[in-house]
Amino acid sequence: RFSSCTPKVCIVGSGPAGFYTAQHLLKTHQNVHVDIYERLPVPFGLVRFGVAPDHPEVKNVINTFTQTAKHSRCRFYGNVNVGKDVSVGELKQAYHAVVLSYGAEGNRSMGVPGEGLAGVYSAKDFVGWYNGHPSCREVFTLNPDLNCETAVILGQGNVALDVARVLLSPIDILKKTDITQPALEALVRSQIRRVLIVGRRGPVQVACTIKELREMVNLPGTKSEMVEADFDGVTEALKDLPRPRKRLTELLLKTALDTPGDKEQQRRHQASRTWGFRFFRSPSEVLADADGNKTVGIRLAVTRLEGSGEGARAVLTGEVEDVTCGLVISSIGYKSHPIDPSVPFDTRRAVIPNTMGRVKQATGLYCSGWLKTGPTGVIATTMNNSFDTARSLVEDMESEALDLSSVKTGSEVISALLEERGVKSVSFSDWEKIDSVEMSRGEASGKPREKILTVEEMIQVART
Ligand code: FAD
Repeated sequence: RFSSCTPKVCIVGSGPAGFYTAQHLLKTHQNVHVDIYERLPVPFGLVRFGVAPDHPEVKNVINTFTQTAKHSRCRFYGNVNVGKDVSVGELKQAYHAVVLSYGAEGNRSMGVPGEGLAGVYSAKDFVGWYNGHPSCREVFTLNPDLNCETAVILGQGNVALDVARVLLSPIDILKKTDITQPALEALVRSQIRRVLIVGRRGPVQVACTIKELREMVNLPGTKSEMVEADFDGVTEALKDLPRPRKRLTELLLKTALDTPGDKEQQRRHQASRTWGFRFFRSPSEVLADADGNKTVGIRLAVTRLEGSGEGARAVLTGEVEDVTCGLVISSIGYKSHPIDPSVPFDTRRAVIPNTMGRVKQATGLYCSGWLKTGPTGVIATTMNNSFDTARSLVEDMESEALDLSSVKTGSEVISALLEERGVKSVSFSDWEKIDSVEMSRGEASGKPREKILTVEEMIQVART
C-alpha cells in the first residue's frame, strides 16, 4: 500500500551504516529515491579511514557500496558538511525522511593529568594519520614522536591491537599496503621496540577478538612478554566461559604460559621487538620531562577485580606503578557528537535516542550505525543495525506513519542551497576519478593505492 508520490530519503554519512541503510531501502522499496550526503569528498567512512592497512580483505565491502552508489535511484553528494553547509531542518523540509548515520568522530578522553603532553595521542588521531584522514594529517608530521623505545597503548580492544601491530610490523609488510607515505616513512625511522597494551581488567575481560590476537601472536619479528601472575586462576575459570571467549582466553594462556617448542623458541630468539598485555592497570597520570613538555612515562594505578566474568568491575588497590615510555596512545573508545541543535541527542551515552532506528520525538528522522548504537561492533554488526533502521523506515512508509502525501523536491532544492552557499559537492563519478588517480599512484610504488591526503587535492582531482 505505497503512496503514489515518490518517497525521497536522504542519508547523512557514507560509512557502512549509510551504505547498508541505502542498500536495504532500495532493495525493499520499489520507488524510493535515496541521496547520500557526505562531509568528505571521498566515501566509505571508517572502511577507508579506520580499518587497518594490512586488512585489505575487510575493505572488499567497498564493492557492494559502489554498486549501491551506482543504483539508478541513488545519488552521492560528497564534500557536504551537514550541520554546517546545510542544516538537518533544511534536509527534513526537502525529503520525506532523513537518516543520520554520521558515525562517531570524537574520542573519549582519559581525564588524567598530563593528557595534553607531547607524545600523547588518541588512537583515533593515530589511526587517522596512518590511514590518511585529512583532519589528522598534521598530528604526527608536526610531532614525530616515534623516537622512543617503549610505547604504551591504553585499552585492549581491536583498535588497540591494530595500532600495536602497525607500530611493530616489519616495513616489508606495511609497504605493500595502502598506508600513507608519510606514515610509512615515519615508521621506517621509528625507534619503538616494545609496545605494552594496558587494560583495567584481566585476561578474561580483554576486549579484542581472536583474529586480532592471533595476528599479534604471529607477527613476524616480534615476541610477547606477559606477566605470569596476571593469569592466576584463569585456567580454572575456562570451563565456565562461553565458547568464543573460551577460545580467546585459551590462546592468551598459551601465549603467556606455555613453554615454546623448538621452532617457536627459535622464532622468539630472532625477534627484535616485543609486545605484551598489562592487565589490572588504569592510567592515573602521564609523566613529563623536567621541562614539563614531553612524555617520559606513565603512572598506572593497580586494580583488582570485583565479581567475575564479563561483568567484573575493576577497583583501585591504592598501589601505583610507573612505566618509562615516550609515546602514549589512548584507545578507550570513539564518541559521537551532535551536529545540529534541532536533533535530540543523549549526551550521557553519546548516541541519538531511538527505538529501532526511529529518533525519539522526531517524526521523519532516523539513525543508524555507530551514532545509533554507540561505537562498538564490526562492520557486520553495523550492517545488521542499519538494515533494522531501513526496515523501520519502510514500515513507516507502508503504514503511513510517515506522511508521503506531499511532493518533496529532494536534492533539487538542496543543490540550489549549496550552490548559493558556495559549496561544491562531489559526485560518485568524481570520486571514481580520485579513486583511479590513487590507484595509479599506488601502482608506481607497489601499493594498492596511494591516498590523496588533503581535501583541496581531492577536489582538484575530482574537477579535472
Ligand atoms: P563511519 O564509518 O564512521 O561513517 C560515518 C561517515 O559519516 C563518515 O564517512 C564521515 O565522514 C561522515 N560524516 C561525519 N560527519 C558528517 C557530517 N556532519 N555531514 C556529513 N557526513 C558526515 N570493522 C570490521 O569489521 N573489521 C575491521 O577490521 C575494523 N577495523 C576498524 C578499525 C578502527 C580503527 C575502527 C575505529 C573501526 C573498525 N571497524 C572494523 C568497525 C567499523 O569501522 C564500524 O563498524 C563502522 O565503520 C561504523 O560505521 P558508521 O557508518 O556508523 O560510521
